[in-house]
Amino acid sequence: MSEPREPGFSTLAIHAGAQPDPSTGARATPIYQTTSFVFDDVDHAASLFGLQAFGNIYTRIGNPTCAVLEERIAALEGGTAALAVASGHAAEHLVFHTLLSPGDEFIAARQLYGGSVNQFGEAYKKFGWNVVWADIDDISSFENAVSDKTKAIFIESIANPGGAITDIEAISKIAKKAGVPLIVDNTMASPYLCQPFKHGADIIVHSATKFLGGHGNSIGGLIVDGGTFDWSAPGKYPSLSEPCASYQGMVLYETFGNFAFAIACRVLGLRDLGPALSPFNAFMLLTGIETLPLRMQRHSDNALKVAEYLKAHPKVDYVNYSGLEGDKYNEAAKKYCPKGAGAVFTFGLKGGYDAGVALVSGVEMFSHLANIGDTRSLIIHPASTTHRQLTDEQKTKAGAGPEVVRLSIGIEEVADIIADLDQALEKI
Ligand SMILES: *Cc1c(COP(=O)(O)O)cnc(C)c1O
Repeated sequence: MSEPREPGFSTLAIHAGAQPDPSTGARATPIYQTTSFVFDDVDHAASLFGLQAFGNIYTRIGNPTCAVLEERIAALEGGTAALAVASGHAAEHLVFHTLLSPGDEFIAARQLYGGSVNQFGEAYKKFGWNVVWADIDDISSFENAVSDKTKAIFIESIANPGGAITDIEAISKIAKKAGVPLIVDNTMASPYLCQPFKHGADIIVHSATKFLGGHGNSIGGLIVDGGTFDWSAPGKYPSLSEPCASYQGMVLYETFGNFAFAIACRVLGLRDLGPALSPFNAFMLLTGIETLPLRMQRHSDNALKVAEYLKAHPKVDYVNYSGLEGDKYNEAAKKYCPKGAGAVFTFGLKGGYDAGVALVSGVEMFSHLANIGDTRSLIIHPASTTHRQLTDEQKTKAGAGPEVVRLSIGIEEVADIIADLDQALEKI
């Protein structure tokens, strides 16, 4: 007999976490659309509430459909455990709620999704959590930002919208030296294109709304625990290393070891803050993930052809796509995203702000909207929409200056995608 094979990525994308429903034989994962679950008896109930047994209590804290999604993403990312939540922002929020106390700091890349820039820079002030910005084009800015209050470092693998590829390994070294976890938002790459745990990440978050779901129909978020971080430093991460008042003094890191972070996000963060994923959305996201490898490859292949077309167009000033030979991030893309550089990139129009507005008005097949990671091709002019609330300086630093247009290339026929852009550029 040969050794059992480790299943490949495409197999895990379809099977990980799922099995035929034990009571009905249903092959697709059922939608367990229920708020609560009946206990076997009083002792069973007590052991569930005391975290002595794993099982279902109430859908705010866990649900069997959501659990399949959690196992699937943990398998695809190579983590120890995961937690499904209501949105990407909820995932980020529960991660920081688990890690930070008032007065603490974390370091985040400036080159982030605009919503995360707001969340970290504005909303978190109310919690007394302080973000210190660093620049992925200057790795030493991360090192210089470390202080004795630093509790985490947060980056995106491929930055939204600028498309910059972050040197995860270099920043992981800084995180290790500072004794803090590295959190990677892997939304833009998905685990098919980039595997942050292999490069030193400790925690991964996703907006499953984007490529994981992949069809532009469901909002969801995921947290994946890499199981790599030692939470035992006294007083540094009290949610993990100190006795927990609401669980009879249990110390989560002692009890749950290399998946304690995912447990803490669930039994403290999700339980008390409440952003649960609906079982229906978990089902939609699971269905999407089954075709993730096929879609991501097609997204990336199409995007490269569209980027090449735009680069040669006389009305286009520049194209920032790390998949293009000669791009500033091409070497990093080959290292971190060897199968392709993803669907999303930006380019600059020679005509500036007005040309950007004209282009989004002139497209026919492209949808003008604020999302990425749909099967459909999407277009947006960040300066007039997603990044409107930022100052001009913040816009440019985030890769969203007035001339910038962002595309999320879909999986339609690439000739049709190019033809649509061509006729819209003609009209400018
Ligand atoms: C969309 C997005 C988020 C936020 O996710 P939601 O599901 O919209 O809450 C976070 N990070 C990145 C990179 C995103 O693209």
